[in-house]
Amino acid sequence: MNIKFIYAALTGLILSASCLVNVANAGVIYDFDIRVNFDGGLTSSQQDIFSEAEDFWEFFIVGYRDELVGPGLDISASGQDIDGVGGILGQAGPTWGLFLPSYVYATAGIMEFDSADLSYMETAGTLFDVIVHEMAHVIGFGTLWGETLNNLLDSSGNYVGLYGLEAYQLINPEATFIPVEQGGGPGTAGGHWDEPDGGGFSELMTGWLDPNPTISLATINSFADLGYVINPNFSVEQVPEPSTLAIFALGIMGLFSRRFKKQ
Ligand SMILES: [Zn+2]
Repeated sequence: MNIKFIYAALTGLILSASCLVNVANAGVIYDFDIRVNFDGGLTSSQQDIFSEAEDFWEFFIVGYRDELVGPGLDISASGQDIDGVGGILGQAGPTWGLFLPSYVYATAGIMEFDSADLSYMETAGTLFDVIVHEMAHVIGFGTLWGETLNNLLDSSGNYVGLYGLEAYQLINPEATFIPVEQGGGPGTAGGHWDEPDGGGFSELMTGWLDPNPTISLATINSFADLGYVINPNFSVEQVPEPSTLAIFALGIMGLFSRRFKKQ
């Protein structure tokens, strides 16, 4: 399942805070491994950014649930001439999956970008954000949520995965679902956190790229709903105090502030 996306749809992100992944740890096998294969059209500096994005997700996602010895994820990354700056940015998404009774895992995927957009985004300082965002889709964010997959949406298309929702409820206690973007057309609708018209919700996994994107614990936790084990350092069994949350959020921002900067 490939996700086609247009430039506007990609210019976007989100975050909030929470961490409820109860990774209890027993028998966790630290074997989540993304393997990015460079298949042409990428400069060495662009390849470095792909590798940084790989490190980013391997930091938060460490293994497979149920002590599964996982297959890892092979990503074919490439740049090609499509239509110049703007217009079609490329496509990204999982292409092969491991279908188990409990979860559906991506085992292979593609990230193909228009070379002109790659250069433009690299110069603008947004390429890391965009690649991290797209790599999340390859892992399964928004692409493996559906009914015949991991079944994380309700009948209205909103997100009801337990771990993601728990995280979201730390800042929205009354919420019974996480609003999912329904606008923006194919490739945007149904696969991102909702960002109200006019923006203002600057998180990594909304459908629009905003300056200073952050990453929410709802996003991180959502990968537990896809069957992954989250880094135990981001896993607590009790709702943290607000001060703890603040420190946590700042820690993340500090860690990645080098790339998460204004355009
Ligand atoms: Zn997206």
